[in-house]
Amino acid sequence: MRKFNGDTLLVATHNAGKLEEIANLLEPFNVAVVGAAEKGLTEPEETETSFVGNALIKAHAAAQATGLPALSDDSGLEIDALNGAPGVYTADWAETDQGRDFEMAMETAYNKLLESGQGVPWIARFCCTLVLAWPDGHDEVFPGTIEGRIVWPMRGENGHGYDPIFQPNGRDITFAEMDRWEKNKISHRADAFARLVKGCFG
Ligand code: IMP
Repeated sequence: MRKFNGDTLLVATHNAGKLEEIANLLEPFNVAVVGAAEKGLTEPEETETSFVGNALIKAHAAAQATGLPALSDDSGLEIDALNGAPGVYTADWAETDQGRDFEMAMETAYNKLLESGQGVPWIARFCCTLVLAWPDGHDEVFPGTIEGRIVWPMRGENGHGYDPIFQPNGRDITFAEMDRWEKNKISHRADAFARLVKGCFG
């Protein structure tokens, strides 16, 4: 396992919510975090059908383009009653001509669950794969998950994406009803991060 020993890490995302979460998680490690937008990077096409495949594409593209070690995150929601959908297409369900609309995406998930005829609990998990890639082509891969269920109606104002309809196991509030510190302690990204820190920052 290769250790990270630089002072600047490029975070290969254009998603402001994810960048903020990753910057919070990296705060203890004294690493300067730079976003992809700040470096003027374009978003590579996510052509793979797995989280790890797409995370590898993003991290390697950003490391090659900037000459900096780059951390990418590919994540999404798997709903068992929908055979794992939306999965790698989690963000795609929110696409509109005017940008992303996550209320619409959450309604799509709810309507598909009703159509599936499957009763509650609607078991689901958020998955995250982190890839740290270096400009010389080396990479390290770290998966993470959080198990829970889909709830309806949407609840809470915090977070991003599908947070208002995801309730983690053992809790009676959604991710969007938690403050960011609470969510960042238990999320799929925190799980993957714990592995990244142990592997590359330990
Ligand atoms: P990606 O940018 O291709 O990885 O898309 C992942 C999508 O999954 C995001 O746009 C969100 O819609 C969703 N997602 C990932 N992590 C979270 C989370 O922590 N909360 C809510 N939605 C999430």
